[in-house]
Amino acid sequence: TDMRELLLSRIRDVSDYPKPGVMFKDITPLLADPAAFTALTDALADMCARHGATKVVGLEARGFILAAPVAVRAGLGFIPVRKAGKLPGATLAQAYELEYGTAEIEIHAEDLDGDDRVMVIDDVLATGGTAEASLELIRRAGAEVAGVAILMELGFLGGRARLEPALRGAPLEAL
Ligand code: 5GP
Repeated sequence: TDMRELLLSRIRDVSDYPKPGVMFKDITPLLADPAAFTALTDALADMCARHGATKVVGLEARGFILAAPVAVRAGLGFIPVRKAGKLPGATLAQAYELEYGTAEIEIHAEDLDGDDRVMVIDDVLATGGTAEASLELIRRAGAEVAGVAILMELGFLGGRARLEPALRGAPLEAL
């Protein structure tokens, strides 16, 4: 579609970043283009509406940039999922496996409750580890998962397959 072409044209391939052999997908040209950023925000907000979301979770750090305007556009609250040690209040924490070592993310425990249906938003789905851990946090906070909405899925890394069990039937949509 036209939107897909527009978004793709505003994503820059940066080779050997953050380390040799990696091709990084840089979304900053898309953020700098108001037509593309607006089209992306509208498409993600539409996904929230279609799947009955009551809250929007953004994954640090680029997920914040996308999820905040989506929350405003959709009329929903924004909840940050942050790297460990960054949130000041009482948190739930979830560790997950990286290629080398582990990482940990957190959410404020009081930000979600049993009535919430949460849409998780991030820029890129790579191995799926970050998104998988975020679904764990949302359920441990007592809420339901409305879906996962991603700008770009790097299919060759198998993130969709890794995420599948944790989705429990909720949709994973990549624009
Ligand atoms: P995963 O946990 O799926 O392996 O990695 C996804 C996380 O790493 C996302 O939060 C995403 O922002 C970041 N990430 C991994 N690869 C890329 C990339 O090529 N481009 C961008 N923009 N983010 C990436």
